[in-house]
Amino acid sequence: MQKIYDTIIIGGGAAGLISAVECKRLGQDILVIERNPRAGKKIVLTGKGRCNVTTNNHDLDDLISKYQRNGKFLYGAFSRFTVADTLTYFQDTLHVPLKIERGNRVFPESNNAVDIIYALTKEIEDNILPNTSVLNFKTEGNKITSVVTYKGEFQAKRFILATGGKSYPITGSNGDGYTLAQSLGHTISEPKPALVPIICKERWVKKLAGLSLLHVQITAEQNNKKIVSKFGEALFTHEGMSGPIIIDMSRQVGDALEKGEVKLSIDFKPALTKEVLDKRVISDFQIYKEKVFKNSLRKLLPSSLIPIVVDLSEIDPEKKVAEITREERLRLVNLLKDFKLTVLKLDGWDKAIVTAGGVNIKEIDPTTMKSKLIDNLYFAGEIIDVNGPTGGYNLQICWSTGILAARSKNG
Ligand SMILES: Cc1cc2nc3c(=O)[nH]c(=O)nc-3n(C[C@H](O)[C@H](O)[C@H](O)COP(=O)(O)OP(=O)(O)OC[C@H]3O[C@@H](n4cnc5c(N)ncnc54)[C@H](O)[C@@H]3O)c2cc1C
Repeated sequence: MQKIYDTIIIGGGAAGLISAVECKRLGQDILVIERNPRAGKKIVLTGKGRCNVTTNNHDLDDLISKYQRNGKFLYGAFSRFTVADTLTYFQDTLHVPLKIERGNRVFPESNNAVDIIYALTKEIEDNILPNTSVLNFKTEGNKITSVVTYKGEFQAKRFILATGGKSYPITGSNGDGYTLAQSLGHTISEPKPALVPIICKERWVKKLAGLSLLHVQITAEQNNKKIVSKFGEALFTHEGMSGPIIIDMSRQVGDALEKGEVKLSIDFKPALTKEVLDKRVISDFQIYKEKVFKNSLRKLLPSSLIPIVVDLSEIDPEKKVAEITREERLRLVNLLKDFKLTVLKLDGWDKAIVTAGGVNIKEIDPTTMKSKLIDNLYFAGEIIDVNGPTGGYNLQICWSTGILAARSKNG
């Protein structure tokens, strides 16, 4: 007779792995089915290889408010397995020392995402079936009896679907979990790439590719009205802009783009008013009065930005600084406070940090993660229609929903 597992977990990402660890700790006989040769492929990429495990935000209401869409659905999971529980679980149960950095971001003390994967897999290594994709389910009435793979069928009393979304498909999450859920009658809110870089029309941005801007204010505007404005770190890419503040505003930019043109306005000197910046420019021009304009901005701007600013200022680059008019100088000041780029589109699935959309939350019990349609099916992680900003918020979804799914019982 074929073995019947207590729980089969489909997908060995963050959500599936923590579910599996917890199920095993609860004494369950488990199997994790993972299509990749190794589990946790996406975790390696998180936090630029350092894994921003969670956010050190312990105020439940404030935490929930960060998840603009469907945040309230997460009350059930976040109140049952809190941020504090997450920190304790990683530090005391899985023995990964953590540290808190700027912006409440929590990282492993080692700065190495691989330590998180090791901690999540060491107890369940023998329970993972790699190189195996779940193709479909077999059901009887309202229950799944087995999953079908090319390596055969596997039976269990209950199933946790943790196949992720559609973002970064190279890591294994190609969205086929949605098809699996649909085959069981679940509906899917249209998946869209979220937390993505922005592609701009101006072709000269590629000359700035790699230039990182540390303390800038970027405002997205439509018809000269502010849509969203963020202060912090951004980055020029070959096609446009990326970095934390761009990625965090990408959802609002994407929504606005459906209605019309969107511009990005970069304030390179947000700490200075126009008047103070003008005084600063006057003082620099005094220092460089014998030079030509193109050689007068090195105290003010990174070198790769200077030729672009010189060009856009429409001041003759060869003009002697002493001969620059007040009008020209004010034009330069305005440019530094309101440097415009035109948004062409958002980048796609290959660069999206997460998926917006997924399994309809109305069909999942928020207190157990159990399907309301199938008696022995649970969901965990990015496959659910919830997503948060950067800063550890998306992995926290995986930890809380994953643990909750593990601890919930059929019935
Ligand atoms: C570059 C990058 C950096 C990020 N950095 C952070 C960060 O620092 N902090 C943060 O909070 N979030 C971060 N995120 C988001 C976070 O990584 C994800 O939200 C999270 O990893 C999703 O976990 P998951 O387990 O739900 O899905 P996934 O990690 O996508 O795992 C799903 C797993 O299921 C497997 N699978 C899929 N279909 C099948 C099938 N049919 N059969 C068998 N197996 C299947 C896949 O191979 C995959 O291993 C980042 C994302 C990216 C792309």
